[in-house]
Amino acid sequence: MSYFMTDEQALLKESVTQFCQAPDTLEAIAYDNAHPGEFPRKSWDALANAGLIGMSIPEEYGGQGQTVETELIVSEVLGTFGYPALANLAGHQLGCAVLYYWGSEDIKQKYLVPCAKGEKVCCGAATDPSGSFNMTEWGISYREEGDEVVINGQKVVVTNADTADVKVIFGKEEGGNTQSCAFVIEKGTPGVSNGGQEGMLIPGPTDWGTIFLEDVHIPKENVLRGGPEKINMWTALGFNAGALMSLTIGQTAFNLAMKYTSERTNSGRPLNQLQKVAHRLVDMATVIDICKASIYTAARLWDEGRYDESVRLSFMNKAFTTEQMSKVTHDATVLHGAVGYNPQTMVSVLNAMVVSTEIAECPPDILRDMIAETYGIDPVWKAGRP
Ligand SMILES: Cc1cc2nc3c(=O)[nH]c(=O)nc-3n(C[C@H](O)[C@H](O)[C@H](O)COP(=O)(O)OP(=O)(O)OC[C@H]3O[C@@H](n4cnc5c(N)ncnc54)[C@H](O)[C@@H]3O)c2cc1C
Repeated sequence: MSYFMTDEQALLKESVTQFCQAPDTLEAIAYDNAHPGEFPRKSWDALANAGLIGMSIPEEYGGQGQTVETELIVSEVLGTFGYPALANLAGHQLGCAVLYYWGSEDIKQKYLVPCAKGEKVCCGAATDPSGSFNMTEWGISYREEGDEVVINGQKVVVTNADTADVKVIFGKEEGGNTQSCAFVIEKGTPGVSNGGQEGMLIPGPTDWGTIFLEDVHIPKENVLRGGPEKINMWTALGFNAGALMSLTIGQTAFNLAMKYTSERTNSGRPLNQLQKVAHRLVDMATVIDICKASIYTAARLWDEGRYDESVRLSFMNKAFTTEQMSKVTHDATVLHGAVGYNPQTMVSVLNAMVVSTEIAECPPDILRDMIAETYGIDPVWKAGRP
């Protein structure tokens, strides 16, 4: 499917494909993959040098001024190649979206510009030890002291936790139950420290861990205010991009299953000529293409300024695609028979990886509440929010 790409987008897709296959890039990828538990600095820098960070941020704020749709086309190519810094880019974008949609002009110039260029790394830290969306029990607190606010608390399982030069940390009003503000905290600020790296089911080159905040002083202007609409503005784009990451895993698993079932035989014929196998492959292809169409539709709606429609569809895409891709990679694994249970086969790695796309950012169970909200149904756990 072409997804109605413009000539310019098709050219960009081709050049990103060439970038992923270039000897220097392959060297950077190999180096980073050989260093699990570390921020993939070489492949990050390669992305920055190629101008592939901050794609949809306007040029006056250090980005490329492209559409969200174009940004997704680039991410899809990177995902297809299993590009090491892609998860870090997703974490970076969570923080950058807040700087862009919630930040003042000064905040944008000071923090967003270097982040959009990839000179600085950002993170978006929402997950509290008590739960990512359990705002009523969040332990983070802050108080005002003159021109500053003083923050105490902790955030866990944050992508780029240690590396991030600009840490965007979500807070809430006292007694509130929604993430209504975000603190912009520079790396090295007294009172900010990190825990060790979290272990992952499939260890990869990433930086994923805890941020401790102990009496951290920041200027009042570094407290950005959200509110329900603005919150959707930062979550929706990230959720739709998360759906796309999941889709690239499912697509790769499907391609592997197609290859395997066309090569392995049963009764002298390829496995994929057995009707049950062929139908399973068709079911996988069907959800992949439908999810892909929906993800790009959400991006186009956003680019056309139809935010409410885009937000709802992005929530749906994150919930539906990640659940469906878990099924697709499961089926691709089963079609490999015992070979699929060997940890050294790619399909088994994908099968273990895909669950992270379901959990990360927002699990489908919580997303269903958010979708219900777009229909005017207020989830009980959010009752009484400010
Ligand atoms: C690879 C990876 C990268 C991540 N990167 C980041 C990051 O950069 N920044 C960040 O802040 N976080 C990050 N996270 C954390 C992620 O956002 C959370 O793990 C996720 O939102 C779930 O929160 P939790 O782990 O606290 O689960 P819990 O809140 O404990 O929930 C556990 C389960 O209970 C159910 N549940 C909980 N609450 C509700 C509800 N209200 N309604 C219905 N069901 C519910 C759901 O099934 C949920 O999966 C990352 C996670 C992963 C796996």
